[in-house]
Amino acid sequence: MSTNLFNEAKKYIAGGVNSPVRSFKMVDLPPLFVRKAKGKYIYTEDNRKLTDYSLSWGAIILGHDNIVVKKAVKKAIDNGLNFGFCHKAETTLARLIQTAFPSMELMRFVNSGTEAVMSAIRVARGFTKRKKILKFDGCYHGHSDYLLVKSGSGLSEIKQASSSGVPEEMVYNTISIPFNNIEALNEIFTRYGKELACVIIELIPANMGVILPDDKFIDTLLKLCKEYEVLLIADEVITGFRVALGGAQEIFGIKPDLTVLGKIIGGGLPVGCFGGRKEIMECLAPLGEVYQAGTLSGNPVVMNAGIAVLSYILSHKEIYKKMRDLVFYFSSEWKKLSIPLRFNAFSTIFAIFYTQDEVRSYEDAKRQDINMFKKIYIKLLKEKILFPPSCYEACFLSILHNEKDIERVLGIFSKNFA
Ligand SMILES: *Cc1c(COP(=O)(O)O)cnc(C)c1O
Repeated sequence: MSTNLFNEAKKYIAGGVNSPVRSFKMVDLPPLFVRKAKGKYIYTEDNRKLTDYSLSWGAIILGHDNIVVKKAVKKAIDNGLNFGFCHKAETTLARLIQTAFPSMELMRFVNSGTEAVMSAIRVARGFTKRKKILKFDGCYHGHSDYLLVKSGSGLSEIKQASSSGVPEEMVYNTISIPFNNIEALNEIFTRYGKELACVIIELIPANMGVILPDDKFIDTLLKLCKEYEVLLIADEVITGFRVALGGAQEIFGIKPDLTVLGKIIGGGLPVGCFGGRKEIMECLAPLGEVYQAGTLSGNPVVMNAGIAVLSYILSHKEIYKKMRDLVFYFSSEWKKLSIPLRFNAFSTIFAIFYTQDEVRSYEDAKRQDINMFKKIYIKLLKEKILFPPSCYEACFLSILHNEKDIERVLGIFSKNFA
């Protein structure tokens, strides 16, 4: 049935999908067609009820049909879908975000993480009057042209885009180096430090599985940014309100110059947000010379969904401990079972790597056994467990997942390696 639906979709939609990972290409299966999502479950058109560990790529944290969020959205809709003018909910959501992210002294809402990153980088370049940007291999920051650069091209003068349609001129000012590699970091700053406008980083990378950052790596980065007056942009689109209330920056006790949020703060509706130090954000029009705008930015339905989610979270801070405990339970049981695969976890997020070797970078993550991943993925689906259909994605929990759910996942892995 999902094959039929997919064939029909392919007649009108390029590849049948509106985002490539949804195609299930990596696991050689027809994509899921979802009928509805409730709580921690996804219900498919072919009548399967799956426990969801993808959770809208991390955007859903309270479960799919949280009553408080639903009510807020319904109420907002009654008052009009978009105003194109200022309204109070924008300020309310900004205030809630600032409670958790004090580093975001001023912020602005946009419609996606991609757009927020793009705008943050523009303001960083406008503020510093510098051109070059530094990123890390395997960290994802949306699909704007100059961030689609081939990994490992950092030290080389010839930069290559990782996507066709992106001329090399667009990535000329982008440098990408391996994560957790202090040597490369020092080398790049020595060579280009004074030309760098910003470094953009997922402090806890969660788009190549989950990678644990070395303390020393983060410390060196902070030190170099300060020394060369390079702005630090923390991309917390996944980690914001996910690994802790105040994201990775709260855990590490750092104050990035700029922060990018998305996913959770929209409660499942399209959103992005960027913000940071006052003097930097004051470069934005109408205060300053950096242009940035959006017809649907600050959309009232989205803002009210965000307010509902964040109000809930802010008054139920214990949810993080609950999710962390669950991940800890997963990880300790995993060890007991001696499953010969890598399990990386940080706070409330985790990833299984289909390799026995340690995974500290994108290079390491690429050494996975894709056939093993496919084989186990099919078994998981058969047992009604929905992991993201790629071995480069993080797994997420909602506040509704429990030990029984985790035991079912563990059962499948242990049976496979018994
Ligand atoms: C999802 C994601 C983005 C892009 O957000 P979109 O809303 O998909 O454009 C950017 N950065 C990180 C870290 C992400 O996980």
